This record gives sequence, structure tokens and C-alpha cells, in this order.
Amino acid sequence: MTQPQQGKHEGLGCPHCGASLDLDKRYGIEMDKCPNDHGWWLDHHEMMELEQEAAEDAATETTYYARRESTLKCPVCRKLMDTFNYRANNVPIEFCTDNHGWWLDKGEVKQVMDLMRERSRDLSRSRSAQVAWKRNVRSGGKSFWDKLKDLFR
Ligand SMILES: [Zn+2]
Ligand SMILES: [Zn+2]
Repeated sequence: MTQPQQGKHEGLGCPHCGASLDLDKRYGIEMDKCPNDHGWWLDHHEMMELEQEAAEDAATETTYYARRESTLKCPVCRKLMDTFNYRANNVPIEFCTDNHGWWLDKGEVKQVMDLMRERSRDLSRSRSAQVAWKRNVRSGGKSFWDKLKDLFR
């Protein structure tokens, strides 16, 4: 049995207020959360996991819409991050160009989740999505979307 990792993630500071981010691991998804509620920091591979679960065609889809420079700094390397609009919607997400991770402001997390869920509903009507859906169900327990819902509630 492995103990769930929890507590301060030393060295990682919120891009808004600089406070040490809290490491928060629930439902197998690990994120660093600003103690002052500014948002969430996802490691690069964590965001990729979300994306891969979100849609089968995620790998072939361009996700960097309207890319531009951000005023926020990467909590890991302190370089200015870039911003893009999530899936061509007006939800800006910051990311480190050195692949350290992704920053979602508090309000953005909910919007991204809504978009993902919307998308999963659309996909569930298509054949390829049914395959993905079954695979999800086979992996046991709650669906990925239920887990996400719980996570951001
Ligand atoms: Zn903060
Ligand atoms: Zn970085």
C-alpha cells in the first residue's frame, strides 16, 4: 500500500501570489493547488493524461489555438509562460514552453471541465467514442468524467 502524497509542494509557487502550492492527489490525478484559491498547476504528463482520456483524436488535434505570450511565470523554471485558448474556445490556459506544466486559473478549471464533458457527450454519440467509453468502463469503477466531476466540485 502506498501512502497518498499530500502536503506542501516545496519550491512551486503560485504564478499569481507566489504562495507554495499544495500537492493534492485525489482519484489518481495529481495537481498542485494554490492555497489562496488562484488555480491549479498540472504537470505536463498529467495534462496529457487528461487530454488522452478526453478524446481519441486528441493526438491529431491541434490544441494550441491563438497562442501568445503570458504575463505569468512558470512555477518550476520562472520563465514567462505562453497562453493558448483551450480547444478554440475562449478559455485561456497558461503553459511552460519547456514542458514543465500547465496553469489553470480557478475559473478556467471549471470551464475546461465543462468543455471536456460537453465533448465527451458529443463523442459518446459517435461509434469511435463508444469504443473509448467501453474501454473506460472496463478499466473499472467510476468513469473518468465522474472522477473529474468529483475533483473539481
Ligand atoms: Zn495564488
Ligand atoms: Zn518551466
